[in-house]
Amino acid sequence: MKIALVTGANKGIGFAIARGLASIGYTVAVGARDDARRERAVEQLRTAGADAFGVALDVTSDESVAAAAATIERTVGRLDTLVNNAGIGGRIDGGAQDPTTLDLDVVRTVVDTNVFGVVRVTNAMLPLLRRAPAPRIVNMSSNMGSLSLHTGPIMAAYAPSKSMLNSVTVQYARRLADTNIIVNACCPGYVATDFTGFAAPRTPEQGAAIAIRLATLPDDGPRGGFFDDAGVVEW
Ligand code: NAP
Repeated sequence: MKIALVTGANKGIGFAIARGLASIGYTVAVGARDDARRERAVEQLRTAGADAFGVALDVTSDESVAAAAATIERTVGRLDTLVNNAGIGGRIDGGAQDPTTLDLDVVRTVVDTNVFGVVRVTNAMLPLLRRAPAPRIVNMSSNMGSLSLHTGPIMAAYAPSKSMLNSVTVQYARRLADTNIIVNACCPGYVATDFTGFAAPRTPEQGAAIAIRLATLPDDGPRGGFFDDAGVVEW
């Protein structure tokens, strides 16, 4: 039995990743910050036949992340896979993410979730991941973080947060190069979720597919890369 933690798993792409991993035999720890939303997601997953349990997890809180690691240790004792999916776009009203009028508080908030959150959760979970025979870490990035593609709207907090996440992903992969822990980043494409106001062509299941692929890489799989359904995404 393999165990996966998915952050931000109560809805959207994270929920689809949790359901997809459960469907191929993983026990899924459903990381979510809101009690009611988390319990509803766990119930939905269990109704669909998944082996799932809820883990209270706010990626912006050191205490919450430490408590989540303790919960997972107590419940299952190790982690095979960590999917750092939780993320926010940040406010855009009043030119908050126009670079020429950028609201630095918005930048701080977005980076705290999308980058520091990943570091917090990853470092808290690494001791549990090190106990698994073939640990995998997947960071949910975005092609908006690509420095060369210039996709999506101008969002001067969100896009750089994903550029930094990509860079952090490479640092982890280098640091863990001589271990069995494989770390990669991915882009789900443009997916219909709350995040996009459900005005996007891809389903959460389609968005989840690349994360599930990277979560289940063989031992000789790529390390420190950035991928979507079509293959390598340009940095
Ligand atoms: P979503 O439906 O808004 O879901 C985001 C998830 O992250 C929710 O479960 C949310 O929990 C959780 N979250 C936010 N802040 C959190 C925190 N501090 N602690 C714990 N959980 C937190 O968005 P989505 O489209 O599924 O996005 C998932 C990931 O994909 C994000 O990293 C996003 O940047 C990335 N992405 C999405 C698209 C797209 O087209 N949708 C494209 C590229 C990349 P609550 O319900 O409690 O808010």
